[in-house]
Order: sequence, then structure tokens, then C-alpha cells
Amino acid sequence: MVQDLRERGIGDERVLAAMARVPRERFLPAEFAAEAYASSPLPIPAGQTISAPYIVAVMTAALELTGIERVLEVGTGSGYGAAILSRCAEQVVTIEYHPGLARSAARVLDRQGYHNLEVRLGDGARGAPDRAPFDAISMTAMASGGLPEPLVDQLAPGGRLVGPVGPGPRGGDGELLRLRSDGHLETLMPVRFVPLISEPS
Ligand code: SAH
Repeated sequence: MVQDLRERGIGDERVLAAMARVPRERFLPAEFAAEAYASSPLPIPAGQTISAPYIVAVMTAALELTGIERVLEVGTGSGYGAAILSRCAEQVVTIEYHPGLARSAARVLDRQGYHNLEVRLGDGARGAPDRAPFDAISMTAMASGGLPEPLVDQLAPGGRLVGPVGPGPRGGDGELLRLRSDGHLETLMPVRFVPLISEPS
């Protein structure tokens, strides 16, 4: 898998080392364990998906982590992305909307000894104001109305927010964006993601 990621242009050694060490099969339902290292997204409970390894690598590399950062992940899902982030940064807070997913991710991560990581249940689009600001924010579900304002507001000076933004409320096709705290916005690549659930505020 790591060789494939290298060939596809991932050059961040910290990300590649994390991906070499985290056992992706532990984050998948048993029936998909055999496909854990295939280059595709896979289903997890609650109708959600664990992103393809390449997407996880692109998103994590785009956060430009050096090991000292405080990171927020929106959309814990299986917990796999959180495990990768926690190996690349100092502290990770990850928020999941579906209680069942939050519970099972917390269990899997705890069993593997990830102690610099906190799994929260709730609407991640609101961020974690009590733990802000964040040096890096990874949003792993697609926002239909642009990058959520609370996340932008919770970026530390110099911070980066990476996540997909799409045209429709049902997820699907969109673009992976990176916003820097100074307002510089880049489009990284076209992507497909499950939708970000948005609660009325
Ligand atoms: N990072 C995950 C991929 C998750 S897919 C992994 O490595 O497995 C996106 C996840 O975002 C889903 O689990 C979905 O339930 C969650 N999600 C969607 N909207 C959300 C919201 N508003 N707050 C928190 N999580 C949300």
C-alpha cells in the first residue's frame, strides 16, 4: 500500500510511516478485512465509508503536520483517519455524529493504545470550541454550503483546514479544499464523499 501511495505522489514520510504502521483491517467490519489494503473506499456501519488509503494520505499530507500540532478531525467514522493523525501530530480531537460509530471507534483506538486522542460524539461542524484553536483540521465528510464557519474560526494562526465541499446536500462529487488561516484557499482535487450532516443552529 505504501509503495502504491509513493508511486501516486505522496512524499510526506511522516504520513507514509503512519500508514505503514496502522493496521487498517482492525477498523473494518470483519467481512472486508481481506480488502483492507486495496486502494478503494470501503463500507463501515451506519451507511458510512472509510476513505480510500490514497485520500487519507492526500488529506493528512495536506495538513503539513510535523508532530507538534493540535488537530481536530470531523467525522471519526471507523477511527482509521484519527489513528493516522494521532501518529503525525501531538493531540487529536475527533468528533463523530453517529453514536454507534463513535463508540466502536473509541473502543478500537483505545485497544490499540492511542492515548493522545479523544473521541467525541456530536456535530463536528461546530468544532470543539473548548479545545480550540487547532493547528490543523481535517473534515472527512462533504459540506454543501462551503467550509463550516465554526471550523474556520477555530484555526490557530498559520493553521490549515482540509476537507471536501460539494454542490449538493446528498454528498457525491465535490472538491477537496485547503484553507489557510490567512484566507488562502486552494483546490486540491476532485473527490467523492459522504455528506456532512448539518444540524440547524
Ligand atoms: N475519517 C473516517 C471517514 C469517515 S466518513 C475514517 O477514517 O473512517 C465521514 C464520517 O463523518 C461518517 O462517519 C459520518 O457519520 C461522519 N459525519 C457526518 N457528518 C458529521 C458531523 N456533522 N459531525 C460529525 N461527524 C459527521
